[in-house]
Parts: sequence; structure tokens; C-alpha cells
Amino acid sequence: MYRIKKSGKMKVDAFVLTDSLNDISEAIEQLKNVASLPSIVKAAYAMPDIHWGYGFPIGGVAAFSEIISPGGVGFDINCGVRLLKSEVTYKEISKHIQKVLEKIYKLVPVGLGSTSKKFEKKLFKKIIENGTKAVIELGFGYEEDLNFIENNGTLLPANMLDVSDTAYKRGKEELGTLGAGNHFIEIQKVEEIYDKKIANVLGLFEGQITVMIHTGSRGFGHQVATDYIKLMRNLNIDLPDKQLVYAQFKSEIGQKYYSAMNCAANFAFSNRQIITHLVRKAFSDISKLYLVYDVVHNIAKVEIHDGQKVIVHRKGATRALGPGQKELPEKYKDIGQPVIIPGDMGTSSYILVGTNENFAFSSTAHGAGRILGRRQALKKLKLNDILSNLERKGIILKSKSKKTIIEEAPNAYKDIDKVVEIVDKLRLSKKVAKLVPLGVIKG
Ligand code: 5GP
Ligand code: MN
Ligand code: MN
Repeated sequence: MYRIKKSGKMKVDAFVLTDSLNDISEAIEQLKNVASLPSIVKAAYAMPDIHWGYGFPIGGVAAFSEIISPGGVGFDINCGVRLLKSEVTYKEISKHIQKVLEKIYKLVPVGLGSTSKKFEKKLFKKIIENGTKAVIELGFGYEEDLNFIENNGTLLPANMLDVSDTAYKRGKEELGTLGAGNHFIEIQKVEEIYDKKIANVLGLFEGQITVMIHTGSRGFGHQVATDYIKLMRNLNIDLPDKQLVYAQFKSEIGQKYYSAMNCAANFAFSNRQIITHLVRKAFSDISKLYLVYDVVHNIAKVEIHDGQKVIVHRKGATRALGPGQKELPEKYKDIGQPVIIPGDMGTSSYILVGTNENFAFSSTAHGAGRILGRRQALKKLKLNDILSNLERKGIILKSKSKKTIIEEAPNAYKDIDKVVEIVDKLRLSKKVAKLVPLGVIKG
């Protein structure tokens, strides 16, 4: 845990929770800028997957008593991850994995600009104002899924009047699409269990087949962020970085952004829910798929910490509530909130749970985090090496774009084992299971 003592314009200390400060100097400057924003509470934190982002670093956590900042949420509002568990083992279905993966690939629109059926304005409004339950009412999944989604799949207030027509136009054919780049659907195997008791409660066991889905609010959320960053452009004077624009939370513009951001969050929850429905369809001959949990990793939320109401910004960071917290589903009350930390398409991903010793506004890491920017990856890494490495490991890959494969190569990301070890040792969350990829669909 590196402490950057408050200096210059910083209002609080900043903490970088990592094993090495190499190659993250830009992101650390960003974290110091965040620590200088008005009304920041306690400290600014960077998770071990910290890297450069728009204004706020990715892997950054900051809580404010009075402001909200779109750059602290990011462009992919409510990007998040969900985990589905099956009732079968790898041994039982290993021969069918290729076929199921291809079925999913056919059913889920994937890639840049991919579209789904159009959602008319009235129905679209219902979905983004009401969240996941609205798409479940339409037949995408089961009511019990709602218990296993952060905030039960709905963030409020959410009023479509606060969303631009451009955003609707971009979003109306994107519900139930994966998108491009870092987003993925992965068929996995539970490789190792670190805590049997907790894994039992989650219904996870060694050798089991699971499916992980990572996507967010697509062009819709991107437009919401773009619109409000523009609207807030002239609000602040004397910012260390223009990308840190913010509004007073209680102001009209602050409340409008909050509501529009929640609309985008509801869109993202619904997006992952519709994709879940399609994945279940592809799996129907093989096994039922149950939702273990769905986490949000780009969001600003009003929460109470140390008795104070604050607006917690998690940008590339995951909420990690410890056991006993009232927001938890009954089933997980005693174990804490499941946390999903994807690694990369060639190594592994982890399931953890929250602890009550968390000192970073109940937050933990959200991924391995990049070590190579997309452009650097394209320069340094070779498609053939990546493909042969995956093949050697028996991982099947389906992707629309060669460029994406290079940008998203395992070597473009930090070592996930290390990231997870750090958050586990710092008790930000506790390691439960390791999952390895068998088949991956990338945008
Ligand atoms: P982000 O939301 O920041 O784009 O990505 C979250 C994390 O997902 C990344 O930091 C990376 O560790 C992980 N990730 C990216 N692509 C893949 C993939 O294909 N499979 C898995 N399991 N994880 C991935
Ligand atoms: Mn995303
Ligand atoms: Mn994400």
C-alpha cells in the first residue's frame, strides 16, 4: 500500500494498492488530481489494476460529499460482469464446448456496431427507467435472477427525459448486444477452490462449467457520458485536468446526470440480462444456467460510509460488501457479496467475496488491468503468437476482428494472479475460486 501524502492542491492523501509503481506514473498523477477535487472524503484509492483513464484513472475509487463527475464513472456506464453456473462438469461436456460456443456466437450480436432488434421508444423508456425487471417481464430470464444482481438490477432515479434523443437513437438497437473489444462471453471451468464453505454457498465446485459475461451500456451509455461532459464543460474553474469536470450533486445538472447515468446503468443490466437469456438458450441441451451474481464496475452511487452519506465513484472498481450487510441477497448474507474479477482470455479469472475489513469504501479490483495500451499492443504483439498460445492451451476463440485479438491479448494485461493476491492480502476481498477459459467470444 503506497501512500501519497497530501501535497499541493490535494485535499486528502491518495493510496495506491499495488506491488509496483512502475509504468503507472500517469495514472498516479490522475489519482492526485482526483484527490484535489472538492468535497473528497477520507482518501483517493487506486486498486492494483490501476491504469490511465479519461480524467480519473481506471481502478480508481473516490467518494465525495457534494459532487458528481462523469469522468469518475467512465464512458461505459455500468460496464460489469456476471457469472452463470451450470450443473455439469467439464469432463461431462468437453466434446460439446465448440458447438455451444458457436451457438452463442450465432445468437448474440457481437462486434463493433452490431445491432439487435429495435426497441420502440415506449418500451425502451420502460426498460431504462425500470431496469432488469422490465426485461424479465418480457421473458428474458427468471424473476429469481433479480436477487443476484447488484441493486437487484435497477438504479433510481432514472428518467428518460434526462437522456438525449441521440442517446436513444444509438441505444435502440443495442439491447442484447455484446459490443467490441474488451467485452466477452467466456465458457469456463472451475479450476481451483480456495474456500470450500463459501464456494458451497455460491454453488461452485471443481471441474464445473461456468459462463462469464462482460459488457456494459454500449453506445447508449457512451452518448450519455459524452452529452453530460459537454454540458458540464464550463462549470468548473481551475481544474487540474479538463477531463475532471464535475457538478454539484444537488444542482439541477448534477441531478440530471445522475438520473441519465442510472438510465444507462439500467440499460447495461438489461443488456447483460438479455445476453444471459440467449446464452441459456444455447446451453439448453446441456444444462440449466443459474446466475451466481452480477457486479457493476463503472458507476457513481450514493452510499453510507462511516455514518456519512457520500457519492462513491468506482471507475474500473467493484463494490465488495462484507457479510451481514443489508443489501445482500438472503442466500449470501453470511458470506458477503460475490466479487467477479476477470483476468484475460488466456489465463484465468477469479471469484471472491467482500469482507468487513475493507477500508476503501467497500471496493476492490475489477480486472487485471492493462499494461499495454491498445496501440502499444498492436505494435508489440503478433497475432500468430497469440493464436498459437491459445490453441496450445486448448482455448477456442471466436472474434470478429483480428485487431481486437491483438489489443486484447493476454500479454496486454497485468498478471491477474498478482492482482488477486494483493486484494486478498489487503482484505479488500477474499479469494474463493479460480476459473479458466475454455472458449471465448470477443467483440
Ligand atoms: P474493462 O472493464 O476495464 O475493459 O475490463 C475489465 C477486465 O476484464 C480487464 O482489466 C481484463 O483483466 C479483463 N478481460 C479483458 N478481456 C478478457 C477476456 O477475454 N477474458 C477474461 N476472462 N477477462 C478479460
Ligand atoms: Mn466496458
Ligand atoms: Mn468493463
